[in-house]
Amino acid sequence: MKETKEFATESKELLNLMINSIYTNSDVFLRELISNASDAIDKHKYLALTSEGKIPTNNYEIRVEPLKDQKTLIISDNGIGMSHEDLVNNLGTIAKSGSKDFMSKVKEAKEKQDINIIGQFGVGFYSVFMVADSVEVLTKKAGEEQAYLFTSNGESEYSIEEATRDESGTTITIHMKPSTDEIDYDKYLETWTIKDLVKKYSDYIRYPIKMWEKKSRKKEGADEDATDAYEEYTEESTLNSMIPLWKKNKKEVTDEEMASFYKEKFEDYEDPLTSLFVSVDGLITYNALLYIPSHAPYNLYSDNYEKGLQLYSKGIFIKDKCPELLPDYLKFVKGLVDSESFSLNISREMLQTSPVMKKIAENVEKKIVDKLKDLKKNDSEKYAKFWDAFGEHIKFGIYSSYGGKKDLLQDTLVFHTLNNEDKYVSLQEYKDAMKEDQKVIYYASGDTIESIKLLPQIEKFKKNGIDVLFLNQKIDEFTIMMMRDYDKVEFKSISDEDSAAITDEEKAKVESLTNDNKRLLDSLKEGLNGIVDDVVLSSKLVDSPVCISTKNGMSLGMEKTLNEDPTKERDVKASKVLEINPDHELFGALEAIKNDDEAVKEYASVLYDEAMLLEGYDIKDKKEFVKKLNALMLKAFK
Ligand code: ADP
Repeated sequence: MKETKEFATESKELLNLMINSIYTNSDVFLRELISNASDAIDKHKYLALTSEGKIPTNNYEIRVEPLKDQKTLIISDNGIGMSHEDLVNNLGTIAKSGSKDFMSKVKEAKEKQDINIIGQFGVGFYSVFMVADSVEVLTKKAGEEQAYLFTSNGESEYSIEEATRDESGTTITIHMKPSTDEIDYDKYLETWTIKDLVKKYSDYIRYPIKMWEKKSRKKEGADEDATDAYEEYTEESTLNSMIPLWKKNKKEVTDEEMASFYKEKFEDYEDPLTSLFVSVDGLITYNALLYIPSHAPYNLYSDNYEKGLQLYSKGIFIKDKCPELLPDYLKFVKGLVDSESFSLNISREMLQTSPVMKKIAENVEKKIVDKLKDLKKNDSEKYAKFWDAFGEHIKFGIYSSYGGKKDLLQDTLVFHTLNNEDKYVSLQEYKDAMKEDQKVIYYASGDTIESIKLLPQIEKFKKNGIDVLFLNQKIDEFTIMMMRDYDKVEFKSISDEDSAAITDEEKAKVESLTNDNKRLLDSLKEGLNGIVDDVVLSSKLVDSPVCISTKNGMSLGMEKTLNEDPTKERDVKASKVLEINPDHELFGALEAIKNDDEAVKEYASVLYDEAMLLEGYDIKDKKEFVKKLNALMLKAFK
């Protein structure tokens, strides 16, 4: 019985694009279908090897057969095949999330009139409709009796009917579009084009890609000049070298090969930022290809993002995303590991606890971090790009290990600083540039670099030329807290109460002024009614009248972040100190009313609100603030 079904909505959109985008690089359809065939064989092989003899292995191969006269191209494999359900779920719907990403990229590209992007992206099975008028998929799943024929012309519908097929596997028959002025579809029926494309895109595929070719040879004993000296014959050739990229000699693999493998395998439209070919031979033997993308995968921050590396054992595919191979903080890394040290029958549970896995994971982590340090040293521009995309994850690595990974990661950290706003500075560079009498590494935190630059406390550092690290990500202060020091030099927030770049002279002046203004400071503190722990005079400020500093290690930023955590119901409070600049005119005005306790108390909250605003925070009771501000204006303007 033949049943007709509608494609899922997203699939229709993608199909539409495939059919109508005449500028795309239609060559990619071949590599996509070959890559699917190879995956299907991988799956069959794994199934056969773990089925305890129930499913025998096939003589694995992928075949390409151009039928020029019929304008038809056939691509077949003897892999796992598809059941009825698989056909509906895999070909009737966009199976891979990468295609959804592709759709959004295409929309973006269209807006920017950048059509090229389409051709760079692997878009799976549907790419066949760039070249096909209609497609038939004859398939039988391993272990099942019934085969099926899926037919579609890439419009809104497809049909499925029962069919027959001997071996498990899939045969895709492509009825080519007629050539147009713009695109020559007939070229895909030429053996030389096919050979070329396979060499270019699918050379590393580990199963033979075979094709019958017409060749010509001199007849035995024939005279070379005779008209019938040559005869035509057909011969089967294997088009690919079949050596997986990671099994090749490391020295012979070019950056371009690494990059194009990445784009195809991990479905990215952009080259990786950097890649790493690892070949370890020793107690544990493994090869790995590791990639740092040049941008965060689009779903990196969604709950369903799966971290991990592909796992192979002796060249046989085991698992697509093996999370044990990557620490959480490196979840953006893509790649694969092939090791002889695993047995194929290893169960998922055993993988998790396998000491071999642990060793490889440790080694992979170290290799990646070393590569990052290398990049930082040799290509600061690229490193800045890396840091913008993934720096937060590295900081998370230090924080989430409670500082355990400090030694490993601290030299990958970079910051913008007061003296280096336009470039990133490492902790070592900061330390090397410290003034002789500077005892600590100063940092300032805020939501953005702009807001940090406006902090009242920063004025003095600017004036004295002391550099300050800018911490503008939420995780930053927590990471610094876990680290405590860098190479024995402690970190200090410029907003800490006792943090200051002040001279003994300034200190003495403040002490004496404080003695003279005890009553004023006490009234202010009383007026603030427990919101602050103290009100003090301070020589930390230059132009600003007031600031808020904190005590006991909890900053305003940390207070905010911790209270924002929706999973926890908490009310964390930083101990705050209101600091007043005695050199500011405002202090003079306060001194004038210092004996009028009630007036001082009344306006204490205005000072506090002002200070919070300067620190980049919001005023809690806006109504009260406006009321008091108005009262002051009324007094002043009457
Ligand atoms: P992707 O291969 O990236 O998942 P595709 O659109 O190319 O996306 O294919 C969708 C799904 O269809 C595959 O994941 C696979 O399950 C199935 N499929 C495609 N081609 C074959 C094939 N030759 N043999 C078996 N299954 C296949």
